[in-house]
Amino acid sequence: MNWNVILIRYGELSLKGRNQKLFEDRLVQNIRRKLTNFESVHVTREHGRIFVELGDHPAPPIIETLKDIFGIVSFSPAIRIHSQIDEIEQTAAKVFASYPGITTFKIESRRADKRFPIRTGEINPRVGQYILDRLPQAKVDVHHPELEIKIEVRIKGTYIYGKETAGAGGLPVGTSGKVLLLLSGGIDSPVAGYLALKRGVELHAIHFHSYPFTSERAKQKVLDLSKILTRFGGKIRLYVVPFTNVQTEIRKHCYDNYSITIMRRMMIRIAEQVAQKFDLKALITGESLGQVASQTLESLQAINDVTNMPILRPLISMDKTEIMKIANNIGTYETSILPYEDCCTVFVPEQPKTKPTVKVCNREEQKLEVESLVNEAVAGIEIIDFRF
Ligand code: ATP
Ligand code: MG
Repeated sequence: MNWNVILIRYGELSLKGRNQKLFEDRLVQNIRRKLTNFESVHVTREHGRIFVELGDHPAPPIIETLKDIFGIVSFSPAIRIHSQIDEIEQTAAKVFASYPGITTFKIESRRADKRFPIRTGEINPRVGQYILDRLPQAKVDVHHPELEIKIEVRIKGTYIYGKETAGAGGLPVGTSGKVLLLLSGGIDSPVAGYLALKRGVELHAIHFHSYPFTSERAKQKVLDLSKILTRFGGKIRLYVVPFTNVQTEIRKHCYDNYSITIMRRMMIRIAEQVAQKFDLKALITGESLGQVASQTLESLQAINDVTNMPILRPLISMDKTEIMKIANNIGTYETSILPYEDCCTVFVPEQPKTKPTVKVCNREEQKLEVESLVNEAVAGIEIIDFRF
């Protein structure tokens, strides 16, 4: 089928007024940015719809690209033609024929351009009959058709299309403020980042790196994951924090069973500094309840205790299998399972405390120069920007 335009539907029902405008402007901008490499493609907006005019570009690669853009509810490849009834009839028949195996259909038309002389009540039976006369397999079923052929007569021309493809849903990236994702090289945190992006945030990520306890390849993994997330986020900024000294100090001075909890608290303290410096409004982690010994309510409480910032945990109620499924779909899984240790696995104590208390954490941290360790780590941050 020679589709020449893709029609995009968007919008959460609850959006109104100023938000609606912000949402639309940002969505158009995000679509344009993602399609810049497709020359001859134009993105336009008209009355609650966005149109991607394909020029002479084939539709499939553009459809694949659109599937990753948050804020799109659904889209349909369409053909735009002159608003003339015989052209409309012929094109509708071609659209029907482009779905092999389908027999029952229905025509649904809308006449937004009232200059068009034929009313919708007449377009439907007329085009339907044209198809019945030419395609012997075709049957009309107005209640449960396998295919609805939509005809929209608009000012710029008439759009004809068949099936809708579901979009990624969510909100356009950039409409909900900026957040800071604690990104390890594991399976979970990239998925948490993806889900945060889905709610329209702009994503910054922070990674704690413990060279030489962890290899350069462990860091490379996180760079690769950041790059993959740009598929959904457009641009991602990554802060790489030198964390070796913090870990060595914890190991040297603190009660072994508390080392993981204290390490997490140090991560949060450092992340908070970065968030304040760059106006990031929340922290995001890949924690989910009960998944590992260190992810209990007591442990979350001990971690939350060091900051007033909201810590969002999009995976909190998910099973590992659900998380892995998303990781597979978004293309992070293969990278996440590469075997290079992250800083947590290197220092795992024999028996991590499953119910740490804030009191003991505070006591153990007295043995550390918390403030100077945090400042030193923040001072050593390397910033890397990724773009789709
Ligand atoms: P993940 O698969 O995301 O590594 P996990 O199930 O392995 O998660 P933990 O290792 O307990 O869980 O880590 C919990 C969360 O802490 C991670 O999801 C991530 O948000 C954060 N985190 C852990 N290690 C790091 C690190 N080196 N740098 C940045 N964030 C980290
Ligand atoms: Mg991990």
